[in-house]
Amino acid sequence: MVKVELVQGNIASQPDMDAVVNAANARLLPGSGVAGAIHSAAGPGLAEECQALAPISPGQAVISSGHRLPNRYVIHCLGPVYGVDEPSDQLLGDCYRNALMLAEQHQLRSVAFPAISTGVFGYPVDKAAVVAFEAIARLAPTLNSVRLIRLVLFSDSDHRVFRTALSRSGLNP
Ligand code: ADP
Repeated sequence: MVKVELVQGNIASQPDMDAVVNAANARLLPGSGVAGAIHSAAGPGLAEECQALAPISPGQAVISSGHRLPNRYVIHCLGPVYGVDEPSDQLLGDCYRNALMLAEQHQLRSVAFPAISTGVFGYPVDKAAVVAFEAIARLAPTLNSVRLIRLVLFSDSDHRVFRTALSRSGLNP
């Protein structure tokens, strides 16, 4: 069974992971938050590669190489804008599902996610945590190559909220 773990930290500083997930914007451009951290660590080659992959729609995921990041791949997900892109819970779940399916297709063992949509896109952290773990739990039995899923939470309070949701999710019994 896949292992799900939580850390507090920076998504751009996860050197032991095969892929990190970008909480992207539709045009896959460098921005604020997660996208800013990933693009500045990866260097300009990432934005160049992304031009051919954009635009993407809410719930969609695309994969690029990691450029100067310590990870082989970046999986870019467009989360829903809370209260705008509906149904937001389904679209947020699609991000986790589609990212993990891409990881499987590329035979990756480990993927690190940020808390997609909980920054500029306004998704309440407690609701986002439940959606994330439900999506992961549904897909977990079908995963073969992915063995480790890490959620990287930026703040101590988000880390605590995700910890509570993980303990209630039935994952990692
Ligand atoms: P979105 O547009 O999908 O809401 P954001 O990048 O604005 O994405 O924020 C998503 C979450 O990631 C927020 O909880 C934010 O606090 C957090 N975050 C911001 N920077 C980082 C980082 N470098 N590493 C991990 N998480 C981050």
